[in-house]
Amino acid sequence: MAEGIRVTVWNEGVHEKGNARVRQVYPKGMGWQIAHYLKKQPRIARVRVAELSDPEQGLSEAALKQTDVMTWWGHKAHDKVLDKFVDRVHARVLDGMGLVVLHSGHYSKIFKRLMGTTCSLKWREWQDVGEKERLWVVDPAHPIAEGLPEYFELPNTEMYGEHFDIPAPEQLVLISWFQGGEVFRSGCCWHRGKGKIFYFRPGHETFPIYHNDLALKVIYNGIRWTAPTPATGPLRRTNIPVPLEPLDQ
Ligand code: ZN
Repeated sequence: MAEGIRVTVWNEGVHEKGNARVRQVYPKGMGWQIAHYLKKQPRIARVRVAELSDPEQGLSEAALKQTDVMTWWGHKAHDKVLDKFVDRVHARVLDGMGLVVLHSGHYSKIFKRLMGTTCSLKWREWQDVGEKERLWVVDPAHPIAEGLPEYFELPNTEMYGEHFDIPAPEQLVLISWFQGGEVFRSGCCWHRGKGKIFYFRPGHETFPIYHNDLALKVIYNGIRWTAPTPATGPLRRTNIPVPLEPLDQ
């Protein structure tokens, strides 16, 4: 960690292959687009793009071991991610790996397992143009809000609306308002075991959300916040710990 954060950008990579409109927005894939931005940011040691079609679905033991933070985008193929790999990612999060879950990743196996709820929500893709989203920073002192304005807007987005069935976030950084009237908790933080999780809402595949510098900045800030904290000492002992003070006086 001292030399920087090692990031794996996990992208399902299905829409990009089968849909010309998505390819127009993300010719090299959404994962590539996010990685391209991250590689230029300070404190990022390296960025690997992984996809469902990779060996071991991009989630090999070796790759996970060398990942400090993973970002997760999925939509069409959540159920194609094998449970044995979900188990692996889950174990790594509990052991300290950060996880940044993006947009429709709210329905991924890994996010639902970590949350323990249905993670369902309302959604609307208004014709082909979507609608305006205004994201308000509601926790300006939070590290994920660093460098963000009071609010920022995405002109064309898919709407996600409450109720979003998640456990109450430990910290809520962003709330979205949509032109159609709905609101949504758009930037949410949790701890699970030694790991930290950040959910960030924007990122529908047919809109150029990951070309927007502020949306990318939130992802980058989320990566920095979820990056593992160096352990300060052994947290568990297999034997009965020797007391630090004598117990029999
Ligand atoms: Zn979407």
